[in-house]
Amino acid sequence: MVKQEFKAESKRLLEMMINSIYTQREIFLRELISNASDAIDKIYYKALTDDSIAFNAADYYVKIAADKDSRTLAIYDTGIGMTQEELENNLGVIAKSGSLAFKKENESKDGHNIIGQFGVGFYAAFMVADRVTVTSRALGSDQAFKWESEGADGYTIVPADKGSVGTEIVLHIKPNTEDDNYDEFLEEYRLRAIVKKYSDFIRYPIKMDVTGS
Ligand code: ADP
Ligand code: MG
Repeated sequence: MVKQEFKAESKRLLEMMINSIYTQREIFLRELISNASDAIDKIYYKALTDDSIAFNAADYYVKIAADKDSRTLAIYDTGIGMTQEELENNLGVIAKSGSLAFKKENESKDGHNIIGQFGVGFYAAFMVADRVTVTSRALGSDQAFKWESEGADGYTIVPADKGSVGTEIVLHIKPNTEDDNYDEFLEEYRLRAIVKKYSDFIRYPIKMDVTGS
């Protein structure tokens, strides 16, 4: 398995995310929920025009699952999913509107103070996680793939098993340090507060499940 390198711009944004200051970290969840919601929008609109896609509103939701014992926070969606190529193109490069606008605005400023105001996208996960895995199965495919990265030094993609179409993102939450507490991102009250603050307008149900002690 060959580890792929991120493109230079992606690397810069990643470094910024990894070193973000305390008060901005919580927005990672806003970014991941917004991506999940976008992915559900895509399958939803496809279903409207394609009779071969069964549509049942109850099937479309986002689920957040924290497990304190394994120190993982997972975000599942039943959206359109990503093919191997899409994992490569969408998560390996900064090419999307939100991230690009962010980069342009902040080229000459201290990005640390303003990260929170922008749609910084998927890489925000690295503000709270030291390893991120994205397992995704695209609509119309039986084969899932797993993208995995520990941050700036690259990512891998391998075939994986996934029973249904959609995406599962697992964040391996960073260990606490003397100065930084990451445990809060495994606490139900804290996760609920972040969802309420940033994702109240999301039009799909956001389920939550916290286990472990
Ligand atoms: P943006 O949302 O501004 O496009 P992101 O960095 O948040 O930028 O996401 C990059 C791309 O990765 C998205 O445009 C989408 O194509 C893909 N992506 C991210 N998360 C998901 C997901 N949960 N399901 C399907 N595709 C996703
Ligand atoms: Mg996004």
